[in-house]
Amino acid sequence: MSNYFTQKNAQLHAENVALTDIAAQFSTPCYVYSRAALTDAYQQFSQALQGREHLICYAVKANGNLAVLNVLARLGAGFDIVSGGELQRVLAAGGDAQKIVFSGVGKSTDDMRMALEANILCFNVESAPELDRLNAVAASMGKTAAISLRVNPDVDAKTHPYISTGLKQNKFGVAYTDAIALYRHARSLKNLRITGMDCHIGSQLTETSPFIAAVEKVLLLVDQLAAEGIVLTHLDLGGGLGICYDDETPPAISDYIAALLKALAGRTHKLILEPGRVLVGNAGVLLTKVEYIKHGEEKNFAIVDAAMNDLMRPALYDAYHRILPVVQNPHPNPLPEGEGTVEKSNCLIFDVVGPICETGDFIGRNRSLTITENSLLAVMSAGAYGMSMSSNYNARGRAAEVIVDGDTVQLVRARETFAHLIAGETLLP
Ligand SMILES: *Cc1c(COP(=O)(O)O)cnc(C)c1O
Repeated sequence: MSNYFTQKNAQLHAENVALTDIAAQFSTPCYVYSRAALTDAYQQFSQALQGREHLICYAVKANGNLAVLNVLARLGAGFDIVSGGELQRVLAAGGDAQKIVFSGVGKSTDDMRMALEANILCFNVESAPELDRLNAVAASMGKTAAISLRVNPDVDAKTHPYISTGLKQNKFGVAYTDAIALYRHARSLKNLRITGMDCHIGSQLTETSPFIAAVEKVLLLVDQLAAEGIVLTHLDLGGGLGICYDDETPPAISDYIAALLKALAGRTHKLILEPGRVLVGNAGVLLTKVEYIKHGEEKNFAIVDAAMNDLMRPALYDAYHRILPVVQNPHPNPLPEGEGTVEKSNCLIFDVVGPICETGDFIGRNRSLTITENSLLAVMSAGAYGMSMSSNYNARGRAAEVIVDGDTVQLVRARETFAHLIAGETLLP
């Protein structure tokens, strides 16, 4: 468990606030983030990078809540965006446009215009036609776009196939063998300025070796370009560092950075990184309540008020999230800490499922839990790709989001109401 979600007096807390109090005040389902956890993860990056020119561009898609972005912006973070919407989120949250890199295979003309207007740091270009389009858009605005090419280094990230992005068969980046020719082409385009090279090989990586393999391949290209007089000022090594959801043992942030810096020995390029999950994943939990206990013929079900529309990862990737009871010992009169004896209780094995009409609507399977109707559960490690992937499926309003900071809790996104759900819809005349 992270240092910021801990048991105190047999009750799960976010920093100093009991999750039962948050449920009472804001109801469930509710995403709960820890400001200290966010800050800690960011500072682990910045400390490990001290002494090296760098920019930590948080990948907004992991969690785009304005308050989360604002916490990171105030720490000095830059941002990695993949849409015009994310650009507007960053600017609305007080982010610095000059610290924004723009990734993604499908940037629209409007997206490009908006980003050029805002004067972002760099476009991570992912194809030949995108180079030409960006050049044309920049020319039409009388501007020059700073670019890096996202190179696909064809290394196996050894992660889930849906979140691996650096293999030949993936849609991301330009083919390794085409990269040099594309840089030459980019140099010929008047409204582009080449500043770097970029790669991002996948997500939830739990070893450093694929990152290092990618760096080595990138550096071979960097040297070939330099020999042709195309000198890069920055290297963007993407994101992808994994977190512990269950029993994974990803490298510590400091070890990951140390390995990268070792692979970059002798290079003076400014280093850009695009961490997402590792900054926010273990800084958030999804708080949910048991609505019903259902004893099926073969299984017991805990039907909770959070569902796949709130947390899609289990349905989408068969992802595992720990599920912890918020009140550890459901004794009517909890004994003082240290003296508690856990009641011999009817602990059963449950599938924890939501109310949505899909068999894929589960949060966790085969979990041993001591629960009753109305018990609160915390779905752990839900800060990344939780709320940001949520939907309104089954006409469910999105969950509330709160941030805990020490002893205080602040609502940072109100629970959606019916009015939010139908905003923009009209009846036929
Ligand atoms: C998703 C993504 C990231 C962040 O990935 P994490 O695994 O969350 O660190 C960084 N860069 C790009 C281009 C991405 O698509």
